[in-house]
Amino acid sequence: MKDKHVCIVGGGIGGMMSALILTHKGYRVTIIEKSAHLGGRLTYRTNGTYKIDRGPTVMLLPHLHREIFAQAGLDFDELLIERCDPTTIMQFHNGTHFVKMSDCQLQKAYFARHYPEDFVGFEYYLEDMQNLYRRSEAHLLTRPLPSIKSICNKEVLQILKDMQLYRSTRSFLKNYFTNNQLLDAYSLQTLYVGGGPTLAPSLYSLIGFSEHEHGVWYVHGGYASLTDHLVNKLEQRNVRIIYEETVIGVEKMGSTVSKVNTNNQQIPCDAVIFNTEYPLIADLLERRSKKYEPSNGCVTIYLGINRQYLQKPVHSFYLPENFDILFANLFKKQQLPEEVAIYVFNPSVIDDTLAPSGHSSLYVLVPVPSQTQQINWDDVVFLQAFVHQVMQILESDAGFSGICDAIQWQEILTPADCEREGLYLGGSFGIAPHLWQSGPFRPQAKIPKLSNAYAVGASVHPGGGIPIVMQSAKFACEEIQRGDMNDNTRSI
Ligand SMILES: Cc1cc2nc3c(=O)[nH]c(=O)nc-3n(C[C@H](O)[C@H](O)[C@H](O)COP(=O)(O)OP(=O)(O)OC[C@H]3O[C@@H](n4cnc5c(N)ncnc54)[C@H](O)[C@@H]3O)c2cc1C
Repeated sequence: MKDKHVCIVGGGIGGMMSALILTHKGYRVTIIEKSAHLGGRLTYRTNGTYKIDRGPTVMLLPHLHREIFAQAGLDFDELLIERCDPTTIMQFHNGTHFVKMSDCQLQKAYFARHYPEDFVGFEYYLEDMQNLYRRSEAHLLTRPLPSIKSICNKEVLQILKDMQLYRSTRSFLKNYFTNNQLLDAYSLQTLYVGGGPTLAPSLYSLIGFSEHEHGVWYVHGGYASLTDHLVNKLEQRNVRIIYEETVIGVEKMGSTVSKVNTNNQQIPCDAVIFNTEYPLIADLLERRSKKYEPSNGCVTIYLGINRQYLQKPVHSFYLPENFDILFANLFKKQQLPEEVAIYVFNPSVIDDTLAPSGHSSLYVLVPVPSQTQQINWDDVVFLQAFVHQVMQILESDAGFSGICDAIQWQEILTPADCEREGLYLGGSFGIAPHLWQSGPFRPQAKIPKLSNAYAVGASVHPGGGIPIVMQSAKFACEEIQRGDMNDNTRSI
């Protein structure tokens, strides 16, 4: 194993974590990254004065981070993280709010005051979801699911039955909540992985529950500081990192990848891990790709402003009246909805490292369809009008009055930009988390018909989100080790 050399194509969280797990097990690793830095979506946008996360902001499932850090020989406690409470505030179109809290006792008291009709339902929700989460994590989230056969066992079938898998996340939550706003508040977390609450299967309702059970955490300095931390560890372990070279193909000997070809050189390897978007790997292998449905895209507006909104939480949502219409527009009709949903990330209320004193770095995110012929995001006039509309909602309805006048720096990222950067069809979160693209139906760590090629990342099982992608890295590394052990056994 000592001399085995693994090439990793792409240095997102999937690629970086694979490299750290493998080096901890004694492998030699080279990461080839087409851009000038590692991290992929887990990076910053900055103008030198203001700095803000480009993508991930919400750290969920810290225990999974910790476990995978340990697999890679890293100490999770070296990161400075802080629990956000309230986790989120959701503001509805009619001006009412729902405050979501980490602390279940406080949340129960909140239900008793504001939603007495759903108080008992919430108690059942907590009890049932705790049980369902525990079983789902053990049998679905932390296990490879390479075939339908892998879910055909008593435990998994019972989980799927108990979770009424045939129902969508929002529909499943009707077992517990009658109030439409609560249904929205407890189902919108499917958006964290690029799916609509009315389309993603019931299993994804566990994300909303995990916010209560495991908390919503903020990484001091921004989530992207995790990339700086990991790059440091990679350098300490002498991992070879090749920046600004794009992998354009591979050399094969039979069913074995023997070399990775960049635009500049050929690199011999014993195994290869692709951290590119899964549907795009087919091009590199000169294969025809299956058709996948992308997750939704986002328009993200990064802002540096000369004031603070201290009364606002780190995470807030502004939600439209009708989720069904919104998500039918985003996913089925592929058109812009009349009423948008907006997420605002406002970390400067707890982190003074991101902007000058008294100023803030913020980002405003609007879920939109993935890249489509019907919307031309490169049309500057159209984009400016869209951004203006969003900023007006923030000003007048979402409690950020004065924000437009306070802007010192602004950058905008659209699905068209994301597609150019290499995100599949401009979707922000990999392939969509729909039933037929989840679990055993999602691409798995081992790439079919090749003996030594693997995939990690948001489009691979178990899916998108930082701790979940790290899980895919763990699966790929386990497959590599398993393959090597089989080889050794054969040669004995
Ligand atoms: C706006 C937004 C908000 C998000 N919010 C959250 C959140 O709050 N919490 C959370 O947990 N997750 C969140 N996510 C999801 C999370 O960011 C992703 O699931 C995760 O970062 C994906 O990591 P990855 O390793 O799969 O891919 P990427 O981050 O896309 O990395 C892939 C890397 O491979 C490189 N690459 C690709 N092709 C090649 C090639 N041919 N040659 C060389 N290099 C190549 C790319 O340049 C890139 O650096 C968010 C995502 C977005 C976009």
